[in-house]
Amino acid sequence: MRRRASDRRPSVRSAARARQRNDKIAQTLGHEPGHALNLAHISVAHACPPPVWTVMVTNYFQQTTLLTDCAWNNIPHEYTAAEIAALRVR
Ligand SMILES: [Zn+2]
Repeated sequence: MRRRASDRRPSVRSAARARQRNDKIAQTLGHEPGHALNLAHISVAHACPPPVWTVMVTNYFQQTTLLTDCAWNNIPHEYTAAEIAALRVR
């Protein structure tokens, strides 16, 4: 049986998974250089969504494979204005 093009379209579930994966990659790519630039972790003690929206949060992400878990849908991938100000070259 020949497959139709519509059969190969990503499902809603795989699109959500791709968005979460991209958010996590963006968070990691911002987080690690943040350390190199002397930014510290901001622990949010497993609060989800994190009360501070920054790539530097830690302890918000509990191990889970459940894609509907809060942590997967609330991955901060931005710096706060205060962190950006601290990163400016003087
Ligand atoms: Zn870290």
